[in-house]
Amino acid sequence: MSSYDVAIIGSGPGGYVAAIRCAQLGMKTAIIEKYSTLGGTCLNVGCIPSKALLDSSHHYEDAIKHFEEHGIDIPGEIKVNLEQMIARKQGVVDVTTKGVQFLMDKNKIDVFEGVGSFKDSTNINIKKNDGSTATIEAKNTIIATGSKPATLPFIKLDKERVITSTEALKLKEIPKHLIIIGGGVIGLELGQVYKRLGAEVTVVEYLDRIIPTMDASLSKELMKAMKKQKVKFALSHKVKSVERNGDEVIIKADDKKGQEVTFTGDYCLVAVGRNAYTDGLNLEAAGVQLEERGRVAVNEQLQTNVSNIYAIGDVIKGAMLAHKAEEEGSLVAEILAGQKPHIDYNLIPGVVYTWPEVAAVGKTEEQLKEAGVEYKTGQFPMRALGRARASMDVDGFVKILADKKTDEVLGVHMIGARVADLIAEGVTAMEFRASAEDIARMSHAHPTYAEAVKEAALAATEDRALHI
Ligand code: FAD
Ligand code: NAD
Repeated sequence: MSSYDVAIIGSGPGGYVAAIRCAQLGMKTAIIEKYSTLGGTCLNVGCIPSKALLDSSHHYEDAIKHFEEHGIDIPGEIKVNLEQMIARKQGVVDVTTKGVQFLMDKNKIDVFEGVGSFKDSTNINIKKNDGSTATIEAKNTIIATGSKPATLPFIKLDKERVITSTEALKLKEIPKHLIIIGGGVIGLELGQVYKRLGAEVTVVEYLDRIIPTMDASLSKELMKAMKKQKVKFALSHKVKSVERNGDEVIIKADDKKGQEVTFTGDYCLVAVGRNAYTDGLNLEAAGVQLEERGRVAVNEQLQTNVSNIYAIGDVIKGAMLAHKAEEEGSLVAEILAGQKPHIDYNLIPGVVYTWPEVAAVGKTEEQLKEAGVEYKTGQFPMRALGRARASMDVDGFVKILADKKTDEVLGVHMIGARVADLIAEGVTAMEFRASAEDIARMSHAHPTYAEAVKEAALAATEDRALHI
């Protein structure tokens, strides 16, 4: 039987990064993945394929809506070739997942394909897809089994017309009317993809705003921008039934007055969050406990109640984000190597890859108000930037929240072109506990979208933005 210093179950961004870091730190490492490709949700059916489709559909939208104004005439009709678009997406996924396999080989990590389950706290059975089994011994194990789409108790996901994000990434036709339950990240990103490709899109959201965990000003601005793109929204609607009738899907919901509203479409995407995934792990055999909502319970070191078993990523509490899982993978590896790493969860940025993009780090205004923190706000609109006008991406703003007395930056909230990348400046500033004035005094290249960060910081510092 093979023995390892550490075995990792699950090869998503949490698991594979943990494996690389363990190997870098000199541990004999194994990783177990039930699917034939590595990379987990993120690389196979999450971050990467969704961004590939967002990019392709964005190019199409530009071609039909904006090329003419740029002075580019394309003779003949511009058409979507969905099959090619999906094939390109799959090509990107394949190259990326193969890249993870390469990294495993480079770092001499043993990869086992099959379902991992605990025999006891130090032995893991692996059931391979051909039915054969193997057992490995591991001094330490990291559970990195991720999450699966959540649904509502009365919904029957047939995966043809009542679908999750996984199916929405490989549809064979453009829906005529896509009804999306859930105005969170998945609903809005994938909703925008199909809206751009020509579908009618209706988002039915239970709460009174979309992206409800982000700063309310971002929800408002994104909804405004998406309404301009003709996405329809039904907020404060409680979905109570989803029925399929041939090629039709009928969704019934109660609005905030309790009136029944019916939505009829040809596809329904259920995007109401994700649940931690522990099926098949046989956690009982190792004595590992779960907390509420089926997540693996961990302490601050991400250690379970069994001292040599750790858990990271979507399967534990916290934001379900690839970069959060990655940080946790490195953290556990370093703890196992005797180091004292730390993650500041307040500084894990959140991004929505719609266009305009939305990005944030730190506290929202709602959180600061609730905590009774005295703060000041500096906001700068994208449309005041030469760069934004040059590329006709004028929607959005940057908002910086700073402590009223000390000027320390407490939150950075952005919506606009390329803010997914711009948020790194907010993270860096907050990691070094910068004041708004620190950012305001830094030179920002002209013309760039980043100038909006400097201007918002100037506005927060002394209410002296330059270009407005
Ligand atoms: P996962 O990536 O879910 O990986 C877990 C792996 O464990 C899977 O491969 C699974 O097969 C394997 N596994 C499970 N049980 C076993 C077992 N018993 N034995 C062996 N293997 C097992 N996050 C972002 O930060 N940015 C984005 O842009 C983004 N976009 C997303 C878009 C979509 C459509 C979706 C669905 C998610 C997106 N996410 C995004 C979220 C991101 O994918 C997850 O937060 C991330 O993948 C979590 O990583 P993980 O390693 O915890 O788990
Ligand atoms: P989410 O939590 O972002 O959004 C779910 C939405 O559904 C919320 O707005 C919620 O209020 C709503 N909702 C819940 N129950 C409902 C009901 N009964 N009726 C109507 N609306 C209801 O979840 P998601 O969009 O499914 O995404 C799942 C996870 O994947 C998220 O945690 C997210 O972090 C991650 N993800 C991240 C990215 C990114 O980082 N860009 C992209 C996609 C997914």
